[in-house]
Amino acid sequence: MYLRFMSSSQKIIITIDGWSSCGKSTLAKQLAKELGYIYIDSGAMYRAITLYFLRNHVDWTNIKAVKEALTGINIEFIFNPKSESSETHLNGENVEYVIRDLVVAEKVSEVAAIKEVREFAVKQQKALGKNKGIVMDGRDIGTVVFPNAELKIFMTADNAVRVERRFKELYEKNPNITIDEIKTNLEMRDYIDSHREVSPLRQAKDALVLDNSQLTMKQQLDIAMKWVRERTRAIPSPFG
Ligand code: C5P
Repeated sequence: MYLRFMSSSQKIIITIDGWSSCGKSTLAKQLAKELGYIYIDSGAMYRAITLYFLRNHVDWTNIKAVKEALTGINIEFIFNPKSESSETHLNGENVEYVIRDLVVAEKVSEVAAIKEVREFAVKQQKALGKNKGIVMDGRDIGTVVFPNAELKIFMTADNAVRVERRFKELYEKNPNITIDEIKTNLEMRDYIDSHREVSPLRQAKDALVLDNSQLTMKQQLDIAMKWVRERTRAIPSPFG
């Protein structure tokens, strides 16, 4: 247990950006738990929007249809004490599990590249950070959502390691899934995410890079906690 003594006025914003499946959400959850912070998975918002579009046959090449559909979407993150994590709810339904499906993953980057979709999601993401004490992971969190965050982490890992991790995770739910399908999906998402016009995936200039290809979960947490301590020491204490 690390920084329980930190006063709320010393709470910071931590952003974690990086490529698909390099362990951003694992680290974000670890940090949020250690620090008593809120964890927000911004990718879950884009996944939930994609799920809504798929279910409601929204033609997302038609901006008018997109705008109209967005008015019918309400996304909430509700803490589940059992999983010890906040879970994504779409219009009152817990969709945490279904948004991880490959059917959603195959379309999410296309949907997330739409300007109106990003404006809708970013507005809510910014509001969630207004009291600080938050760890948010995604692709544009340190560059667009919280450009003034106190700690920005950019995560990366070898391609083969990322494919294997995601395969293990999805295989448990769907034994018919193949390594090739996962590999193609990760490559496609990374390409679209880093080449889109609006808020492409970029490493913020002031981000610290964490390559976790060879790290255990404990090692990656130790490195990130060291950075948190360095950043919080730099914040003057209200008690002098
Ligand atoms: O993080 P995750 O892999 O669940 O994100 C799913 C997709 O959502 C990404 O591939 C990307 O297209 C999109 N995304 C985004 N901006 C974010 C978070 C996710 O465009 N901040």
